[in-house]
Amino acid sequence: MTKKALITGITGQDGAYLAKFLVEKGYKIFGTHRKTHPPNLWRLDELGITDKVTLRELDLQSDRTCTKLLQEVKSEEVYNLAAQSYISVSFEQPVATGEITGIGVARLLEAVRAVDPDIRFFQASSNEMFGLVQEVPQSENTPFHPRSPYATAKLYGHWMTVNYREVYNTFACAGILFNHESPLRGLEFVTRKITFNAAKIKDGLQDKLLLGNLNARMDWGYAPEYVEAMWLMLNTPQADDFVIATGKAYSVRQFVEVAFRVLDVEIVWEGQGVQERGIDRKNGKVLVEIDPRFFRPADANLLIGDPSKAQRELAWKARTSLEELVEIMVKEDLRRIRSGSIEV
Ligand code: NAP
Repeated sequence: MTKKALITGITGQDGAYLAKFLVEKGYKIFGTHRKTHPPNLWRLDELGITDKVTLRELDLQSDRTCTKLLQEVKSEEVYNLAAQSYISVSFEQPVATGEITGIGVARLLEAVRAVDPDIRFFQASSNEMFGLVQEVPQSENTPFHPRSPYATAKLYGHWMTVNYREVYNTFACAGILFNHESPLRGLEFVTRKITFNAAKIKDGLQDKLLLGNLNARMDWGYAPEYVEAMWLMLNTPQADDFVIATGKAYSVRQFVEVAFRVLDVEIVWEGQGVQERGIDRKNGKVLVEIDPRFFRPADANLLIGDPSKAQRELAWKARTSLEELVEIMVKEDLRRIRSGSIEV
């Protein structure tokens, strides 16, 4: 019998990749989008699967229709990927972030419990829950210390997932996802901002790239591999939580260097602190500058995941190196710019 899955946040980066992955596995896919604006379908369009998914409206901030939706869809698996996922926005809208990213998880878990307790539930938890890190690298046993309204809301959703598993025996799993990127990443995120703007600079469409903290280090993986881990979690005998990460960290500065290198530009750095600049070695042009507006009010520190449990129990491992990831993203942005398929 054809398996069915419901993906909240199907219009986001992970939602689109997960939908493609599950369609290829033969699943029938239902996905939700917000009713407040027309569905944002560019990612599903780019992956060529818009006509292979059935869309339904759901706004986790206010919607009380989760139960009705689950009754209609009757899926064996529910993947909760919807979230107000921008850390900077969460400082401006902490209450809305709490409602969507935190309480939204409780709404879905309650619906699962009411409609069919056999539904398997995946929650997209975040490395940001470690925030002020208590140890490096972070594993499933590392204590949390969130440093933003986003991370605090994610922590609520995470513990609710654990709670439903422990109290109601729900097959509920949380993936503690470290950063994962792709050409489908939103332009507000630093990686995509770098690859898109570097490609524009290469083609003479822009002069400079403005960034915040160049020394922030991140554990960056490739998104299509992370959605495979989500599916693996729901298809093992025992529900549990897993850190999904590469186990390696690189700085924003290194990401910038690799992105320009893909475009045949070598960056050299001059100056200190907010005066630091990235310069094209060939012609002395300033291509990267610091803009203090992009510093976070409270940065999480060294977030590096320990993915050994996922490797051991799910046979999951990140496969794409940072260099490969950056190259995929830069080349795709260059292609989009040159083909006119993205507004510049
Ligand atoms: P994303 O691209 O920002 O997608 C977020 C999705 O949530 C979009 O489909 C968005 O829909 C939807 N959404 C936003 N507000 C909503 C609301 N009020 N009601 C219902 N849906 C709403 O995020 P992503 O990168 O795919 O990440 C997927 C999940 O993993 C998120 O929960 C994120 O917090 C978590 N996560 C991601 C990373 C990462 O590195 N990517 C790391 C850790 C955790 P619209 O199209 O309507 O905006």
